[in-house]
Amino acid sequence: MTAQILDGNRLAQKLRADFGRRAEALAARGKRPGLAVILVGEDAASQVYVRNKVNACAQAGFHSEKIAYPPDVAPQVVLARIAELNADPTIHGILVQLPLPRHFDSDAVLEAISPAKDVDGFHAENVGALMQGHPRFIPCTPYGIMKLLDEAGIDLKGKEAVVLGRSNIVGKPMAMLLMQASATVTVCHSQTRDLASHTRRADVLVAALGKARFVTAEMVRPGAVVIDVGINRLPDGKLCGDVDYAAVSEVAAAITPVPGGVGPMTITMLLANTLEAAEREATR
Ligand code: NAP
Repeated sequence: MTAQILDGNRLAQKLRADFGRRAEALAARGKRPGLAVILVGEDAASQVYVRNKVNACAQAGFHSEKIAYPPDVAPQVVLARIAELNADPTIHGILVQLPLPRHFDSDAVLEAISPAKDVDGFHAENVGALMQGHPRFIPCTPYGIMKLLDEAGIDLKGKEAVVLGRSNIVGKPMAMLLMQASATVTVCHSQTRDLASHTRRADVLVAALGKARFVTAEMVRPGAVVIDVGINRLPDGKLCGDVDYAAVSEVAAAITPVPGGVGPMTITMLLANTLEAAEREATR
């Protein structure tokens, strides 16, 4: 079997064309969607992510601001800027690129963002709303994965879904969304015993561990849908996911490539959340 490729680039392009139209409609009323991205420090990967987010905004016709600080900036400076952005009517979404340097209390920074502008969906109020099943913002990576599954016509009802990883950014909200879509969900982590016994039961397997090519063909049930969230840099500089793509795509029914699967959808759903925030604001 050769798996169907769940093409994140193609779906992202399709969705972004619609976002561009909606952004122009808002701009015509003087309410162009605006995203502020805060970057602290010089982490190379974070710089690339922030650049991609700002570029995606420009391509979709959104206003965006990149606000960069040196690694030793005092947290109070960043918190004061967030307070200004919370009150800025041209900004509908505020994102703080993680990880922050060690002298920051990341939770305190995320909680300082107005829940109405928390387009990453990491504020406790938004996490609670997601948990209760009426989300204001869905965290971008799991949101993008749900869109990919939906686009491919994959019905989750009654399916066995296994999520590898329990981070606040990916694993936990992913599990919540799969459960809300009526899958039966198992969440695995570094302390899980006999991981393969879980992965081999999965109709839908989501790998979000951050370990290059960790998921092998032997760990995958033939005919499963495999979603690879991982972004890992190999010694030769190339990117790869958490799944051994070449081998697993011979076993799975459908699979996301890395790059070109989940990554472009994450940025796309950041645009979606920013646009939705701007549209909500415009109808108030
Ligand atoms: P994270 O915060 O480091 O969490 C990793 C999770 O994997 C943890 O829950 C950890 O368990 C679990 N884990 C680690 N080793 C394991 C093992 N051997 N067996 C089972 N579970 C194991 O990472 P994250 O932020 O969720 O990101 C995960 C990956 O996705 C990274 O490669 C990241 O770069 C990538 N990512 C991609 C996108 C995208 O748009 N494509 C977006 C976000 C993240 P414990 O909790 O027990 O430590």
